[in-house]
Amino acid sequence: MNFEPVDAALVPRFAGVPSFFRLPVVSDFALLDVALVGVPFDGGTTNRPGARHGPREIRNQSSLLRRVNANGVSPYDKLRVADGGDCPVNPIDLMDSLTKIEDFFGAIHAAGAVPVTAGGDHLITLPILRALAGAAPVGLLHFDAHSDTNDRYFGDNRYTHGTPFRRAVEENLLDPKRCVQIGIRGSYYHESDWDFPREAGIRIITMEAFQDRGVADVMAEAKEIIGAAPCYVSFDIDSLDPAIAPGTGTPEIGGFTAREAQAMLRRLGGVNIIGADVVEVSPPFDPSGITALAGATAMFELLCAIAGAKE
Ligand code: MN
Ligand code: MN
Repeated sequence: MNFEPVDAALVPRFAGVPSFFRLPVVSDFALLDVALVGVPFDGGTTNRPGARHGPREIRNQSSLLRRVNANGVSPYDKLRVADGGDCPVNPIDLMDSLTKIEDFFGAIHAAGAVPVTAGGDHLITLPILRALAGAAPVGLLHFDAHSDTNDRYFGDNRYTHGTPFRRAVEENLLDPKRCVQIGIRGSYYHESDWDFPREAGIRIITMEAFQDRGVADVMAEAKEIIGAAPCYVSFDIDSLDPAIAPGTGTPEIGGFTAREAQAMLRRLGGVNIIGADVVEVSPPFDPSGITALAGATAMFELLCAIAGAKE
C-alpha cells in the first residue's frame, strides 16, 4: 500500500500535524520502501549547536513541498514512503546515542527500507553507516564545505561532527576509492588536514574546481567514481552558501547556490542509493526558516532520486 500526503486541495498546507511532507507516521518499517526519519542529536557539534532541533523544523518546512518534483518524478506513486518518526537519542551521552542510532537504522535496514534522514549534526552519519554497511564497504557522495575527516578534537575525542568520514574509512564502512566530496572550501586547521582523505584515495572536488567545471561535468565524474555498487548520499546544509542557508553550525561563505544544489541532486539517476541524509540544519540560527526549507527541499530531491532510480 502506498501512502499519500494530506491533500493540499482539501487541507491547506499550513494546517495539521507537521510530519515529513505531510505523510502519515508509520513505525512498521517493513511497510516502507523509504523511511523518512529524524535524528535529533547534536552532541558531536564542536562550535555552534542547535542541529538537535533540525528534524522538527524540517518537518514544519516540508509542508511547502508538493507531490511532484520539477523533473516530473512523483515519489509517492513509485514508492511506499512515510514519516518513520525520530530515532531515540541520549542528549547527555554521546556514546549511548551512537549505539541508539546504529540500532534504529539497523532495524530500518533489516526491514528492507531505505532511510532518508534529517539530522542532527554530521556525526550521526557514522552510526548510520555502521548500520547500513554491514556486508561490504559502500561508496559515498558527500556535499559539504568540510571534508569531516579530521582525527581528534579537544584532546583525544575521536567522535565529533568533524571526524565521521575518517572513522568510517578506518572501520571499513566506506570504500575510499568510491568516495567523492564536493564543495569543500574555507579555511582549515592545518596544512596537513587533507593528507588523510588524499592518501586514502577519497576524491575531493573543491568549490574552486566546481566553479570552473560546472554541475554537469562534476556530477559526471562523481557518478563514474561511485559506479553502480551501493552508495550513501550525505548532504551537509553548510555546502550551501550561508546567504541562503544561515542556520547551521559552521557556516562558510562561498557556497553552492540553491539552484546548483538542486541541479546536482536531480542528476543522481543510476546511483544505487542505500541511504541519504541532510544534516547540520540548526533552527536557532535560522530565524526565517529558510535553512530548514532548503533542508526539506534537499530531502525531497533525494527521495525523488530514489524513486527515479526505480523506473
Ligand atoms: Mn559536515
Ligand atoms: Mn560542513
